[in-house]
Amino acid sequence: MKVREPLISELSSPGRRGVRFPEPDVPTTPLPKGLARADLPLPEVSEVDVVRHYTRLSHFNHAVDINFYPLGSCTMKYNPKINEALARLPGFTEIHPFQPPETVQGALRLMYELQEALKKITGFAACSLQPAAGAHGELTGVHMIWAYHHDRGDTARTKILVPDSAHGTNPASSAMSGFKVVEIPSDDRGNIDLEALKAECDETVAGLMLTNPNTLGLFEEHLLEVVELVHSVGGLVYGDGANLNALLGIARPGDLGFDVMHLNLHKTFSTPHGGGGPGSGPVVCAPHMADYLPGPIVVETEPATDEMPPMYGFEFPKKSIGRVKSFYGHFGVMVKAFAYIAMLGEYGLRQVAEDAVLNANYLRVRLQDAYRIPYNRICKHEFVAEGRWKDAPGVRALDIAKRIMDFGFHPPTNYFPLIVHEALMIEPTETESKETLDAFADAMLQIAEEAHTNPEILRTAPHNTPFGRVDEVKAAKELILKWQDAQS
Ligand SMILES: *Cc1c(COP(=O)(O)O)cnc(C)c1O
Repeated sequence: MKVREPLISELSSPGRRGVRFPEPDVPTTPLPKGLARADLPLPEVSEVDVVRHYTRLSHFNHAVDINFYPLGSCTMKYNPKINEALARLPGFTEIHPFQPPETVQGALRLMYELQEALKKITGFAACSLQPAAGAHGELTGVHMIWAYHHDRGDTARTKILVPDSAHGTNPASSAMSGFKVVEIPSDDRGNIDLEALKAECDETVAGLMLTNPNTLGLFEEHLLEVVELVHSVGGLVYGDGANLNALLGIARPGDLGFDVMHLNLHKTFSTPHGGGGPGSGPVVCAPHMADYLPGPIVVETEPATDEMPPMYGFEFPKKSIGRVKSFYGHFGVMVKAFAYIAMLGEYGLRQVAEDAVLNANYLRVRLQDAYRIPYNRICKHEFVAEGRWKDAPGVRALDIAKRIMDFGFHPPTNYFPLIVHEALMIEPTETESKETLDAFADAMLQIAEEAHTNPEILRTAPHNTPFGRVDEVKAAKELILKWQDAQS
């Protein structure tokens, strides 16, 4: 039997307190009528009660600093702590966006060098650090596609093609930009279906949004042909570069013919995410799209001399779609991503990709006899298995996801991508050791065994977590979004 955790209201004892405010050294005035509630049932607790309460709550959560977090498509790699220390340097935290550029040259140089690094890594000609996240980068990129066509008087292009394996943000970004979304099916090897693509390629195509490797973790086998097809009818190819983990230092989307792409600094480049905190979704593009990038962009305003380093300032591209974010984007995230890139260098980044791919394939092969993997070929940074068996009809992917928590692991992404039934999408990342991968694989194999011998243990899981199985329907229908006093 688990001991029920006390609510903080139950720890309350009248008159107990954690802080004592100093006597005011100015005259006091009562608060205006109606502003203060007399009946606010705040718990009365000591400092140690508060510390223990929040520390206990923090243990209810899973984090990559606690254990393995194979949440496919999310790239939950370890976030080096030195990034945090660097982002906290007073020279970075104590500057203000309204300061004149000559007083913040260090910060501008960091942004400039990050732009340059991202261009070099992806093979593109230009970069804007403005967007706040991946979805925001997509919206920005699709707006740029719209601006590119309209600027040329090419206004009949009304549709964007999106493969059925795409992340939901792709059709959302296209629709929010006013385009009609046309879904393209995948073929039986997990590639975009070339015949279906051909059938939709006409002069109304504004662009194709392509994720490569796609959300099945597979490299698009006919990529050059796909790009060529879309270009041949005057469309542009958008790359969803949220996960670049498999390509770093190996292949550059700019060289492969993509026109515009966003990157997630908070996935590939190790800045923390998952708690809803700030992300960063820079957009990179080919020369013909550079004029449409959102500004401001950091540029060199004066070259270096023998005595002086170069000077940096801001510029708006000539036909910019404008600002997409207040000020200069999420600067703290940029510091962390830059630290990561600078620390690894070219060879280190390539090693990231090689290890990420090796780890994903290692797990894929260890699990392939126990779980059906519908598109089972060499994968890139992730793979997708089915969480169901014909001879264990009572068990679903959700049950497997819940049961894996009993082993101390975060569940894989489930029910995405939509083209795999009962999908379990597993992305180990490069930062995990063979021992961790083996412990996870052993647990997954045990679960597959239990599905056949003791399905009840899966259906009632998790058993070892602070909370048991929640009623997901009730949780969605009866949202409780604020603290409520237990008595009320
Ligand atoms: C995570 C992800 C996105 C969206 O990124 P956010 O920063 O969460 O908005 C888009 N596409 C793919 C393939 C992703 O994995």
